[in-house]
Amino acid sequence: MHPFTITIDGPAGVGKSTVARMLAKELSAVFLDTGASYRAVTLAAMNAGIDPADTVSVLEMMDRTVFEFKHTGDVLKVTIDGRDATEAIRQPQVTENVKFIAGQPQLRSQLVILQKQFAAQFDRVVTEGRDQGTVVFPDAAFKFFLTADSKERTRRRHEELTAAGKEIDFAVLHKQIASRDASDKNRTASPLKPASDAIGINTTDIDARGVVNRMLEVINAKNG
Ligand code: C5P
Repeated sequence: MHPFTITIDGPAGVGKSTVARMLAKELSAVFLDTGASYRAVTLAAMNAGIDPADTVSVLEMMDRTVFEFKHTGDVLKVTIDGRDATEAIRQPQVTENVKFIAGQPQLRSQLVILQKQFAAQFDRVVTEGRDQGTVVFPDAAFKFFLTADSKERTRRRHEELTAAGKEIDFAVLHKQIASRDASDKNRTASPLKPASDAIGINTTDIDARGVVNRMLEVINAKNG
């Protein structure tokens, strides 16, 4: 088992990345954004003209492709065969297609191997995704499951996109988030759900700092 792993799972736009990054900083831990790996494989398949639903071709492509995930300060830099893909993996078309990759057990197993290898290099890891507490790190020291009202999650994502200069209609974004919720929750392969021993935090009315403080309280109460 990994010495000290904290998992944070939850739906799109709930603030997992922000909170995981902040918590990792507080604990001098490494932050792992597993969604970035699903996005990178989706983008690489799209760039290679491969149907993301064609498991055999995607697995072959993964075998011959070098994916790298490196932290530079607060930014997770993603490269595919040495080419920067940090921004490109966040494109709406990738977000739209990622469900085809995320729904396939064989592709997930490959990514889970990479996630475990990554974590094994460090003493302390804060990892975020959909299945971190249930499937990837079932023995994690602490497991959190974040929720928030879908309108509030849309508002947060909308604010993030606007700040990045990307305009999108609120209602359209809300629909996209609802559709991602449905495909993440209803797939058979590692669906989005809280681990039985996860601590749930409803973040609708709490900002990121408040969520991190709540997590630190839980961790310190047990460790301190
Ligand atoms: O977290 P993010 O929105 O970047 O994740 C993109 C997609 O990757 C999610 O909608 C989900 O379908 C998939 N994913 C997953 N398991 C994870 C992380 C992400 O299925 N651990």
